[in-house]
Amino acid sequence: MRNSNELNVCRVCGAKQLEPPWGEDGLTPSYEICDCCGVEFGYEDMNINALKRYREKWLKKGAVWFREKEKPAVWSLDDQLKNIPEQYR
Ligand SMILES: [Zn+2]
Repeated sequence: MRNSNELNVCRVCGAKQLEPPWGEDGLTPSYEICDCCGVEFGYEDMNINALKRYREKWLKKGAVWFREKEKPAVWSLDDQLKNIPEQYR
């Protein structure tokens, strides 16, 4: 079951988003860019294989924030990754 928390996180990196990246129905991508991993919702995360590939690449490069100034002062990659809904891990 989806819940509102799951709808508001990036499927790639687990970062919380102001607007649901895939809309309220989880099916309508916003084509916004994630501040954290830089994924474009609806593009690199369009399916499970694509998003896993993108996540792997991002992690391999050191999990660098796409918009560095949005990075919280206290941030834990491990904690954030726990936000990723089960079905997208
Ligand atoms: Zn992200």
